[in-house]
Amino acid sequence: MTFLDYAAAPESRALLTLRSEYGLFINGEFVAGGGAPFATISPATEEHLTSIATATEEDIATAVAAARRAYDTVWSRMPARDRGKYLYRIARLVQERSRELAVAESLDNGKPIKESRDVDIPLVAAWFFSYAGWADKLDYAGLGANPRSLGVAAQIIPWNFPLLMLAWKIAPALATGNTVVLKPAETTSLTALLFAEILQQAELPPGVVNIITGAGATGAALVAHEDVDKVAFTGSTEVGRSIARQVAGTSKRLTLELGGKAANIVFDDAPLDEAIEGIVNGIFFNQGQVCCAGSRLLVQENIHDEVIERLQSRLATLRLGDPLDKNTDIGALNSREQLERITELAAVGEAEGAQRWSSVCDIPTTGFWFAPTIFTGVHTSSRIAREEIFGPVLSVLTFRTTAEAIAKANNTPYGLSAGIWSEKGSRVLAVADALRAGVVWANTFNRFDPTSPFGGYKESGYGREGGRHGLAAYLTASGDNAPLRTAAETQGGVQ
Ligand code: ADP
Repeated sequence: MTFLDYAAAPESRALLTLRSEYGLFINGEFVAGGGAPFATISPATEEHLTSIATATEEDIATAVAAARRAYDTVWSRMPARDRGKYLYRIARLVQERSRELAVAESLDNGKPIKESRDVDIPLVAAWFFSYAGWADKLDYAGLGANPRSLGVAAQIIPWNFPLLMLAWKIAPALATGNTVVLKPAETTSLTALLFAEILQQAELPPGVVNIITGAGATGAALVAHEDVDKVAFTGSTEVGRSIARQVAGTSKRLTLELGGKAANIVFDDAPLDEAIEGIVNGIFFNQGQVCCAGSRLLVQENIHDEVIERLQSRLATLRLGDPLDKNTDIGALNSREQLERITELAAVGEAEGAQRWSSVCDIPTTGFWFAPTIFTGVHTSSRIAREEIFGPVLSVLTFRTTAEAIAKANNTPYGLSAGIWSEKGSRVLAVADALRAGVVWANTFNRFDPTSPFGGYKESGYGREGGRHGLAAYLTASGDNAPLRTAAETQGGVQ
């Protein structure tokens, strides 16, 4: 089969003006960091984009103190509906600057512009709009009348959905009356810093949100700070474990959103055209760098060959290349380190005897790229069936009966998400009920909505983000004996 060639359709970079260096955002202003600055690059071209500051322990102490002051004097005393108004204002500014944010996200992260433009940034605005509406309705959060905020939240986010993960963290924290010190991932700090400019535009009171940049050590020092009341982390299971150890025995509250190895189950009565699109979206969206990616495809044995054939011919149409090109389906991986890990695990898959198929793509000579890949003949015990690859690599297993599908789907240390494809509603509901996963999608995959809770079982973490459930992570029932700084609340009250 031949395909028409697409002319290049790059999105303009003209509306994005980057500074040559970015400081830390503390108390409403950009300030120099005490540590050595580091570069952020485009993973597609390895071009130097800008220089980012590193926060030292002293900088972290300044940021936490600013957040504490803002909590005590302003944010926890402000009428709830006014907090809501700030969130609405932030949401609208995100919409106003959405094209610029999308370009920055694709440049810095490597994801295709059609994803950042049509998925990430619209969801960021949706998250702020949704939680803006909650700010004055906290009595209905399920924690009784007049639930209280916790205080200062330390939030650490990963690089796969940089601005979206920021929204997932900041929107509920602010709506519930907490103040924030957030650390973005070291390879993707850019949109968090543009977001800091938006906070200035919104005239958010200084100190309510502080953004500090740096690598893992900066994150660890933030978690360790004694004046932090709440830690929220999204990232690898390994780092999540170390944070859980660090926080154990302190009064800090913790929520963790970690890895996954989701089963995407296709029954023989599934609408196959839709299922193929769902499988592609499930594992190749954002180059598979998605914690809830449908990375384990469980196909009913009698339709295995047909599914694989259709999948391969669909993958042959995906265009890999410049993330800023509006025709691009598969962008760059976020870092060399990520590319090396995926390459290594794919080699393990081959060594373990699975059959590897990769789509034929022109791989650019600079940057970090990996062609969409499918492994068939994978066993439940294979490493590529058990470990999170976090890349565009699908492991295919088969099953014969519904019971076998459920057993295989649940045979994982993780439990973040799962997908079911079947035309039979009763089967979908019964299987969904039996799956140990925080989110189960039926005849779709990777759908996100601010009103829907998201989170894991087992090694995928604990706590929920999104919807009413997401509020609970930042609130305590008013009768609780939690160790809070309540001076401001007893005077002003979170309304
Ligand atoms: P990934 O493996 O997906 O890169 P990580 O868990 O290493 O994810 O990183 C997620 C976030 O956690 C990043 O912002 C990173 O800087 C931060 N981080 C890494 N190590 C630590 C640590 N020991 N304590 C706190 N934060 C950390």
